[in-house]
Amino acid sequence: MAWNTGTGTDTSTGAGTAAGVDTGPGAAAGTDVDVVVIGAGQAGLSSAYHLARAGIGHVVLDHAPRPGGAWQFRWPSLTYGKVHGMHSLPGMELAGADPLRPSSEVIGEYFGAYEGRFGLRVRRPVDVSAVREGADGRLLAESSAGTWSARALINATGTWDRPFWPRYAGQETFRGRQLHTADYPGPQEFAGARVIVVGGGTSAVQHLLEISRVAAETTWVTRRPPVFRDGFGEAEGRAAVALVDERVRRGLAPQSVVSVTGLPLNEAVRAGLESGVLERRPVFARITPTGAVWADGSRVDADVILWATGFRAAVDHLSPLHLREPGGGIRVEGTRAVRDERVHLVGYGPSASTIGANRAGGAAVREIRRLLARERVGGPAA
Ligand SMILES: Cc1cc2nc3c(=O)[nH]c(=O)nc-3n(C[C@H](O)[C@H](O)[C@H](O)COP(=O)(O)OP(=O)(O)OC[C@H]3O[C@@H](n4cnc5c(N)ncnc54)[C@H](O)[C@@H]3O)c2cc1C
Repeated sequence: MAWNTGTGTDTSTGAGTAAGVDTGPGAAAGTDVDVVVIGAGQAGLSSAYHLARAGIGHVVLDHAPRPGGAWQFRWPSLTYGKVHGMHSLPGMELAGADPLRPSSEVIGEYFGAYEGRFGLRVRRPVDVSAVREGADGRLLAESSAGTWSARALINATGTWDRPFWPRYAGQETFRGRQLHTADYPGPQEFAGARVIVVGGGTSAVQHLLEISRVAAETTWVTRRPPVFRDGFGEAEGRAAVALVDERVRRGLAPQSVVSVTGLPLNEAVRAGLESGVLERRPVFARITPTGAVWADGSRVDADVILWATGFRAAVDHLSPLHLREPGGGIRVEGTRAVRDERVHLVGYGPSASTIGANRAGGAAVREIRRLLARERVGGPAA
């Protein structure tokens, strides 16, 4: 594995000390900083890189124990080769990684090296429990390590911390094991078991392809018939991002970009379709103590129900700022929260992909730089 730093993007001497500013990785709780970044995944690190380059004082807080963002928690059988479309962070390429190694290791190491390369000393584990209005137009980020006061906030908390479990009749009566993708340990634990996998996304497909090799039986259940796409290109990617963007502009809760791009039709998926492993059933009418029953009276007995039903934006700590719209989402223009220009959401809605998070980090910092400059001229924003 190699890290290639691009030309013209090296901030190694500037990050942490850019323009003589304490860019804040070491800033102690209770310190005033210009910007608090919450989260050190792709979105938070991209933002921190651009803040450091712009010489804006900041602190990065993350409640995970190690570098890697949510990748560090992904199951060991999700090897780097199975990850589709992972984009490098700005200024340092991830090249030549072994496709057979777990992505948690590859990306964890890459993020760690990235933080080191650009001096982005993330404070961890620090859990931010709430962000509130402070005095003089400042924001207060309350955390397990104390409170930081900031003039602007970049929220880059992703979705991994909020697995979504839908509710179905009879669910609580099921006597077998229920788990979510967020707790998926890899296929070994399901050897000989009868497993129902619920969900129409990439994770569900990957779980089924793995588990079917060792399980006694698998059943795939999705709300809508899955759409497989052969040769998904840039135009389709842009169209998918535009769809999510449109929802977020209307104040609706975002769907993940991946959920609107459809499922990639690769060799393994083709084999799964041919063998019947990826034959899908509509959602059951109810769950029973021993499995599930469909409206037509058919039933499937199961030992395990695996909910591959996605994630929601982890933004509960922002509740005191009242950013949510009646539609359940936070309206954003680009990355800026419409209800509060000091708050940017990076990796949210249309930027919830590795490439989107990269771009959004730069865009958020450009806007924050203008906001801070305006304040310096005219006093704190109201
Ligand atoms: C199984 C899976 C596979 C995926 N594969 C791909 C792919 O192949 N290509 C792609 O482009 N995208 C993929 N995605 C989406 C991708 O993970 C994201 O778009 C991107 O990596 C998310 O980066 P992020 O920084 O927004 O979030 P994360 O990586 O989740 O980082 C958020 C960080 O915030 C921290 N945090 C959260 N809440 C708090 C808090 N209250 N206080 C302090 N810290 C907090 C977390 O510890 C975490 O480190 C995948 C997603 C999943 C679930």
